[in-house]
Formats: sequence, structure tokens, C-alpha cells
Amino acid sequence: MWFRIFILGALLYLLYRLLRPRRAPEDEGSERDRIEPPREDVMVQDPACMTYIPKSQALRVVRGSEELYFCSPECREQYLRDRPDH
Ligand SMILES: [Zn+2]
Repeated sequence: MWFRIFILGALLYLLYRLLRPRRAPEDEGSERDRIEPPREDVMVQDPACMTYIPKSQALRVVRGSEELYFCSPECREQYLRDRPDH
């Protein structure tokens, strides 16, 4: 008889686990971190030397609707000189 009670208890526990909201109390700490997530740096390509650079360190140039990123002012000058705006 105790065996059946044990099975019933196990089933009830499983049911409780399934019906319990997904968010466990220990997740609240990580939720606070989510407010200010660590900014993953996006890699952008320098069209002048074809090097990939982190967006935060790139020189951003907006030409009309296109956005360009350069690794150095030299590359920016070179690219803008080689491909003048129409
Ligand atoms: Zn470059």
C-alpha cells in the first residue's frame, strides 16, 4: 500500500513540476541583468581594406541611405576618394 502512495506522490510531484510557471525564483537575479545586457559588438567590414572591425571602434560614415564603417581615417579618405558621391 505504501508503494501506491509513493507512486501517487511522484505523479503529483511531476504534475506540480509541469504546471509550475517556467520562471524559477532563482531566475530573478538574471532578469535584473537583462535590463542592461552586455553589448555584443557587431563586426562590420571596412569597404576600403576589407577588414572586419568592431562597430564601436569603426569610423561611421553615412552617405545617403548607406552606412559605411572604416577602420581608420586613411581608409575612409581612400574609399571616399576612389568612389566619389554622384
Ligand atoms: Zn581599413
